[in-house]
Amino acid sequence: MKQTRLRRAARILSVYRYNFGVTPPYQVIIDGTYAQAALTEKLNLAEQLPKYLGAPVEIYTTKCCLDELTKLGHPLYGALCIAKLQQIADCPHNPPRGAGDCLSHLARRTKKEKGRKYLFATQDATLQEKLRAIGGIPILYIAYKTVLLDPVSEATKTALESDKGELETIKELKKELLGEEPAKKKRKKKGVNPLSCKKKTMKKERVVKGSEGTKTANGKRRRRKKGNTGEGGGGATAEN
Ligand SMILES: [Zn+2]
Repeated sequence: MKQTRLRRAARILSVYRYNFGVTPPYQVIIDGTYAQAALTEKLNLAEQLPKYLGAPVEIYTTKCCLDELTKLGHPLYGALCIAKLQQIADCPHNPPRGAGDCLSHLARRTKKEKGRKYLFATQDATLQEKLRAIGGIPILYIAYKTVLLDPVSEATKTALESDKGELETIKELKKELLGEEPAKKKRKKKGVNPLSCKKKTMKKERVVKGSEGTKTANGKRRRRKKGNTGEGGGGATAEN
């Protein structure tokens, strides 16, 4: 059962990873409802989330979530303590909004911008519905005494289809602008050969000079035989 649960998680995550840029370390934003559920089910989120998602996890909450928990007071004191242990994700809300508004705002921002891609962890059914409708947002919840990923929503599936269209147009644009680059690399190899040809001619000249030198070393008779060509060689012998 555990393996199918993890396989299911990996399958859902791969959709977000390859299509919406949600990559490890996974940045999970939890709200008060999720912290409360973790407390009642005695789940250690820092331990359970990385195991379930199969990668390192950074857990966040927002000032708005902390503010809401503080206002709700004593019944949610334990959840507040859990939330306070987490890092704070930036949100622009001042004065603070309700946790549901805050997280749905961050989810819309996450989808539009290229920076951080958050996963959202909540037990709030209305917030879950909002997040599903945005599309491309991974949603975590707690059920059956464990952490779980929400199935890929319909809005996410339609976003996937439109994204495929965008990718194709981008590829076409790249071809138009850049042309075909790999052909240039082949030409570079041809450029090396002329240098090696020059070296060969140098070697031949040296061989000829060497042969002249041996002739001159043997004596004057050979100079007479070669006549005009031997004048240079005669000079060389005088030096020796
Ligand atoms: Zn906020």
